[in-house]
Amino acid sequence: MPTPAEPARPVPVERVEPFLPFTRPSLDEETIAGVVEVLRSGWITSGPQVKAFEVKLTEYFGGRPARVFNSGTCTMEIALRLAGVGPGHEVITTPLSWVATSNVILTVGARPVFVDIDPVTRNLDLDRVEAALTPATRAILPVDLAGLPVDRDRLHALAQKHGLRVVEDAAQSFGSTWRGRRIGSFGDFVSFSFHPNKNITSIEGGCLVLHDEREAKLAEQYRLQGVIRTGQDGMEVEVLGGKFNLTDVAARVGLGQLARLDEFTAKRRELARSYFVQLDTPAAHASGLGLPVADFTQCNWHMFQVMLPEHPSAPKRADVMARMHAAGIATGVHYPAIHRFALYRRLGWKDGDFPHAEHAGRNLLTLPLFPAMTHRDVTRVVTALLTILSAP
Ligand SMILES: *Cc1c(COP(=O)(O)O)cnc(C)c1O
Repeated sequence: MPTPAEPARPVPVERVEPFLPFTRPSLDEETIAGVVEVLRSGWITSGPQVKAFEVKLTEYFGGRPARVFNSGTCTMEIALRLAGVGPGHEVITTPLSWVATSNVILTVGARPVFVDIDPVTRNLDLDRVEAALTPATRAILPVDLAGLPVDRDRLHALAQKHGLRVVEDAAQSFGSTWRGRRIGSFGDFVSFSFHPNKNITSIEGGCLVLHDEREAKLAEQYRLQGVIRTGQDGMEVEVLGGKFNLTDVAARVGLGQLARLDEFTAKRRELARSYFVQLDTPAAHASGLGLPVADFTQCNWHMFQVMLPEHPSAPKRADVMARMHAAGIATGVHYPAIHRFALYRRLGWKDGDFPHAEHAGRNLLTLPLFPAMTHRDVTRVVTALLTILSAP
C-alpha cells in the first residue's frame, strides 16, 4: 500500500521587498477606460480630447491661454521663436538642468549664456544675471529644479527692467505656486512637460501658457507646419512650423491626471516631510548629507534630491547608487552640469566655469519620490542610504 504523501508543509518565505523605482506614474482605471474609449472612437490624433485638455488647463491657469504639444521641449523652442530669438541673440539660462533647456536655445540659432546656480536653491542665481547681460541678450530661461520655484518677483522685475522676454522652464513645477499664485497663472511664456517622470503625464507631451490669444494662435501655427485654415477650403502658411501636435489618446491620459494633481502634490509634500523628519537624526547629521530647501507650501516636490558629501573618504556617487540598487532601491542623477557635455565644450565652455553647478552635477542624488510611495518606503530608503554612507 503506497504511503500517503505527506501534507505539504508551508515553506517559510523570506519577505522580499519589491524593487523601488525613483518615480512611477499613477494611472487610474477611469483614465485607462477613457483611453480605450478614445481608441474606439475613430478619432485618435489631435481632436476633441486635445481641445478639452486645453480648456481645463486654461481654466487651471486662471484664464491665461494654454496650448498642448507633444513635448515640453518643443514648447520652449516655440516660445523662443515667438519671442523672436534667433541667430546673434543670447539667452540667459542655468547649467544645472535637463539638457533640453539649453538645447532649444541652440536649436533656434541663439547662444545660451549660462549663469551659475545658487547652491542653496540649486536654481539659477538671480544675483548673477545682470553681470551676464549684453546688448545681444533677448530672454531669460530659468528652471524650477525639483519643482522649487525661482523667485518670480525678482525674475520678472529683472526682465522688465532690461526689456527681456521670459521663458519659464516649469517642466518640473506643475502644481507649484509663488506667493499663493499657481506657476503658469502669471508671467510671460511658461512651459510644462508631461513626460511620465513629471508630476502629471500624458505619456509624452507638454503645455505652453502664453501671454495673449495672438501669441497662442501663432503657437498653434508653429505646432503644425505653420498651417492656417480658413473657411471651408482655405489654407495658408506664413511661418515655418513643425510637427508638434499632441494625440487625443495622450490628451485623455493628461485629462485623467490633471484631475488628480492636487492629490498628487499633497502626497508628494507629505512624503518629502517624511524624508526631512527621518533625515533629522544624529546619524543623518553625521553622514554629511546636504538637504534641499524645506518648502512645503510652494514646491510641488517633483524630486527629493540630497547632496552627497564630497571628501576623499566618502563613497563615490556611482558606488552609492550601485549599493542602493543592490538594496532594491533606484536612485537618479538630475543632472550633470550641461556645459561639461562634449557638444557644449566644443562651443567653448570648460571645467571650472560654473563651480556650484559642477559640484551639484557631481554630487546630487535623486531619491525615490512618487505619489504611490509609502512612509515605509521612505524609511527603507533612508535606512539604506545612511548605512551605505556610514560604512564606505
Ligand atoms: C522634462 C524636462 C524637459 C523636457 O520635457 P520633455 O517633455 O521631455 O521634452 C525640459 N526641462 C526640464 C527641466 C525637464 O525636467
